[in-house]
Amino acid sequence: MDTSYLKQFYKKTRNEKIQALQQAGVISAADAQMLKEGLSLPDEAAENMIENQLAKYELPYGVAPGFLIDGKEYVVPMAMEEPSVIAAASAAAKVIGAAGGFHTTISKRRMIGQIALKDLPDLAAAEKMVLANKAAILQLANRAHPSIVKRGGGAKALEVRLLPADATIDSPDFLVVQLQIETLEAMGANIVNTMMEGIRDELEELTGGTVLMGILSNYAIECLATATCRIPAHLLKRGQFSGADVRDRLIEAFQFAYVDPYRAVTHNKGIMNGIDAVVLASGNDWRAIEAGAHAYAAKDGQYRSLATWSKADNGDLLGELTLPLPVGTVGGSIGIHPAAQFTKRLLNYVSAQELEAVIVSVGLAQNFSALKALVTEGIQKGHMGLHARSLAINVGAQGKEIDQVTQQLKKAKNMNTATAEQLLAAIRQSAQH
Ligand code: NDP
Repeated sequence: MDTSYLKQFYKKTRNEKIQALQQAGVISAADAQMLKEGLSLPDEAAENMIENQLAKYELPYGVAPGFLIDGKEYVVPMAMEEPSVIAAASAAAKVIGAAGGFHTTISKRRMIGQIALKDLPDLAAAEKMVLANKAAILQLANRAHPSIVKRGGGAKALEVRLLPADATIDSPDFLVVQLQIETLEAMGANIVNTMMEGIRDELEELTGGTVLMGILSNYAIECLATATCRIPAHLLKRGQFSGADVRDRLIEAFQFAYVDPYRAVTHNKGIMNGIDAVVLASGNDWRAIEAGAHAYAAKDGQYRSLATWSKADNGDLLGELTLPLPVGTVGGSIGIHPAAQFTKRLLNYVSAQELEAVIVSVGLAQNFSALKALVTEGIQKGHMGLHARSLAINVGAQGKEIDQVTQQLKKAKNMNTATAEQLLAAIRQSAQH
C-alpha cells in the first residue's frame, strides 16, 4: 500500500477518494468501478435473506484510513449512519499510528453451546454421568456436523454447570452441559446449534432429565480479542492542555466509566460505534457482538468500561481493550452481500483472527478519540460541525446549498432545524436575485 496517495483523504471528493484508493494499491480497478456503482445488494439476494422482504434499507459505507495494526496498514471500512464516527476513528489512527500502532492478541476461537436439562431425578448423579461420558458426547456432537471436523474444527471440550432452583422466580434446578466448539473461519451459530441438537437425546437418556433447549451462547468468552496501544504524552497535546494533562484526564475519564455504570454504558456505546460499523461492513452479525460485549463489560458483577487506560512508568499513556469477537469470514450473509465481499478484499485479511484484530483496534481507537475530546474541548464542537451537514440535508438543501447551509449553520447561534430552514430560504432567495 502506497499511503502517500491517502494523505488529506477527507478533503477529497468521493470520486477522488476512490481513485486514491486505487492508486495506493488498496483496491483494484474493478472494485473502484463497483464502489462508484454503489455495492448494492441484488434484489434476489435481498428477497431470499429475510421473510416478508419489501425493500432495501441503505446505510453509508465509508473508510477510515491510516490504521497500523500489528505492523500492517489498513484502510478500515465502516457502515453506519452516525456522523463523526469515521472522523474520530481516523484521527485516533493517526495519533496511535505515530506512536507505533495497535498491537493485538487474539485467543483461540472456541464458541460455546449449551444444553439445559431439568426434571432430573438426581442432580449429582446426572452430573457424574455426563462427565463420565464426556468423550462419547463430544464424539456425538462431532458426528452431527462432520464437515467442520473434516476442516480441523469441532467440539473440543465439555463442562457441566449446576444452576440451583431460584425460589424468587420459582425456577427448577437446571443442569447445563456446555461444549466448546472450534468453528474455524465461521461465527458458527448454525454449526453449534446443529451439534447441540445432535446430543439432546443422549443427554436425556444419560441423566433421566428433560432437555429444555439447546443453543449457542453469545457470551463468547472463549473467543476474545485484545488491542493495546502506547502513546507518548507529547503526542496528546490539545489546545491549552499539555500532553500530560490530556493523558491524566483521559485516565480519569476511564476511571469514571469503571466505577459508574451510567457513564460506562455511554463510554461503551462509543466503543461499539466503531466495532458495530466494521462488523456490519464485514457482513457479520452485530447483534451477537453487541450482546456478548455488554455481558463481558459486566463480567465481575458490575457493568464497567470495556477499555482501560493507565500511565506507564515512563509517562506514556497505555490503552487496552478486550471483548468477545466471534466474527466469521464465511457463513451467514458474508458470501451473499457484495459490500461484505468488497470489505474482504479491502481489508485483505487472511483469517477471522485478523478480522478480529482490526475490529478490536477500531474499538480502542474510538474510545481514545471520544475520551480525548470529552476531557478537552468536549465532543459537541466536532460533532455539531458534522451534524450541521445532516441538518442541512434534512431541511432539503441540495447540491451546493448543502455546503452553504452547513457553513452558515456552524456560525449560527442556534444550530437547529428552524435556523437551517431560515438559512436555506435566504440562500434560495438571494440566488433568485
Ligand atoms: P453458516 O452456517 O452460514 O456457515 C458456516 C459454514 O460455512 C460451515 O458450516 C461450513 O460448512 C462452511 N465453511 C466453509 N469454509 C469454512 C471454514 N474455513 N471454516 C468454517 N466453516 C466453513 O454460518 P454460521 O454457522 O457461522 O452461523 C452464522 C449465522 O447464524 C449468522 O447469519 C447469524 O446471524 C446466525 N445465527 C445467530 C444466532 C446467534 O447469534 N445466537 C442464532 C442463530 C443463527 P461446510 O463445512 O458444510 O462447507
